[in-house]
Order: sequence, then C-alpha cells, then structure tokens
Amino acid sequence: MIYYLFSFGVFIQLCYINNGDFMKDNVFHFKKKFGQNFLKDQTIPKKIVGVADIQKNSLVIEIGPGAGSLTKELSKAAKQVICYEIDTSLEDILDRELLGLDNVCVIYDDFLKRDVKQDLSSYEYHYLYVVANLPYYITTPIITHLIESNLGVDKIVVMIQKEVADRFCAKPGTREYGSITVFLNYYFDLKKEFLVSRNCFVPKPNVDSVVISLNKKTEQLSLNNKELFFQLVKDSFRFKRKTLRNNLKGYCLEKIEEILNEYHLDLSVRAEDLSLEIFVRISNNLG
Ligand code: SAM
Repeated sequence: MIYYLFSFGVFIQLCYINNGDFMKDNVFHFKKKFGQNFLKDQTIPKKIVGVADIQKNSLVIEIGPGAGSLTKELSKAAKQVICYEIDTSLEDILDRELLGLDNVCVIYDDFLKRDVKQDLSSYEYHYLYVVANLPYYITTPIITHLIESNLGVDKIVVMIQKEVADRFCAKPGTREYGSITVFLNYYFDLKKEFLVSRNCFVPKPNVDSVVISLNKKTEQLSLNNKELFFQLVKDSFRFKRKTLRNNLKGYCLEKIEEILNEYHLDLSVRAEDLSLEIFVRISNNLG
C-alpha cells in the first residue's frame, strides 16, 4: 500500500486499494468509451521514456496523459511536452499531479479534431517525438492523423494492443500483413520493443500490450504519386483472400503485371505477398 501511496496520484491509490471500486470512492470514474486503462506500474513509464531516448531540445507530444504517470517522466527528459486529453474530468487530477512542471502543457480536446501543426507553431525545437500509451479504440486513426498532419515527427514510441502491434510490424507473407503495415513501413522503421502485461493496468484490460517504436526513415522510397500509391495499396488488400487480378480490376493490369513479372510473379498473387518496394514500383509504373 505504501508503494501506491508514493508511486501514483491519490486517486489511483484510492481506486486501487479499494480493489478498483472507484465508483464507491466517488474519486474518478474510468471511462471505457475513452479507452481508459491507466498504468499502475511506475517502472513502465520509465522504460518507455528509455526506449524513446529523447534528445535535448526536443518537443514531445503525448496523446492521453490520463493521470500523468508517463507525462511526469517525459517532463524530465524533454524541453517541452504537449499533451492532448479528451476527458476534462481529469483536469483537477492532472493539475495536482503535474504541479510545478512548467514545461508541460495539457490541451483538453479530442486529438483527432486538432490542427496539430497549428498547435506546435509557437514552439521551437530540434526534434519532435510522440510518446504515449494510446487509447486502443483509436490507435490507427491517431497514428494516421499524426502522419497526415505532416509534422515531421522523428520518432514515435507508443504502447498499443499486442494484436495491433503484430499487424503494424508484420512481414510480407504473413496473415497479419495488411495495408496499414505497408502504410506505416513507407514512413518508418518499426520495432517491437517490449511486452506489457494486462496486469500492469487499472482497470485491467482484456488484452496484453506491446510498446513499439517507429523511427522516421532516413530515406523514403521515391513515389510519383503518393495518393495513387496509398489507394493502390488499400484496393490491393480490399478482399484479403482475392488475387491482385480480382482486387485491382479498375487499374491497368498490363502495367501491374509488367512489374510483377520482374519479380517472377503474376496477377494471381495476393497483396499480402508483396513487399513495400513492389507496391512502390507498381504505383510508379501506373502514374
Ligand atoms: N497515459 C495514461 C497512462 O498510461 O496511465 C493513460 C492512458 S489511457 C490508455 C488513454 C488516455 O487517452 C485516457 O486518458 C483517455 O481519456 C485519453 N483519450 C482517449 N481518447 C482520446 C482522444 N480522442 N484525444 C485525446 N485523448 C484521448
């Protein structure tokens, strides 16, 4: 119990020593709709920040600070931390937990609705990181929003559901390999860093988690038409069990086959067997 008293905010301690009966305490109501599973093992935030290896003069974005356990560690490592928290009922708790940390700013809003580029425009920094324990119900939309906001993020370190990490980091030829894998691999080198048991959270989720890192590629493959490329990848995976011939009926199949033949493949191949490089080559041959 002493461990909880000193490691977390008062509210977590109250929730936890009452076996999660936080409703009774009337202190904090965890909201399932916001994916609220908070870390109760304070060693994990330290480990996450260790993986992020935050350089001096950097700005860190955290999505979903919750009760601030990761935020406090980020504040020690970064020049500035900007957090986005959708749940305004966490404001008092975060005010208390982050008291005196004047390099932390919390924006109470839905991250997906923010013009993040605009939010960052008044800050000066050399490196940009995103470090977070993401709400699982919107993992992919958050990462997509980050990429599409064109912020020039150097490194992303996020805790996500294990099964989603398997998809993000999948290799061609595996069941988990999909359009999101190709999308992310176009921008980043991905790595699974470490597993986090469901027992490290309150309330305890039904799944285990994995911390992954996404390092910005030093050199991206050259694309003639980015929009065409991502549409092609999406369409190729539309029906996973179907061949490219069936999924890409609206495209110039001769031009697609031209490239496939160079890799000793033909239109009977499935999207899950094609590497990022082959998708890029096909796309550039189309337009
Ligand atoms: N960082 C905390 C931790 O590790 O203990 C909490 C992580 S919890 C998995 C996810 C957090 O994201 C919650 O605080 C939740 O309220 C917040 N959240 C959910 N949806 C959000 C959104 N659209 N924008 C910003 N924050 C969101």
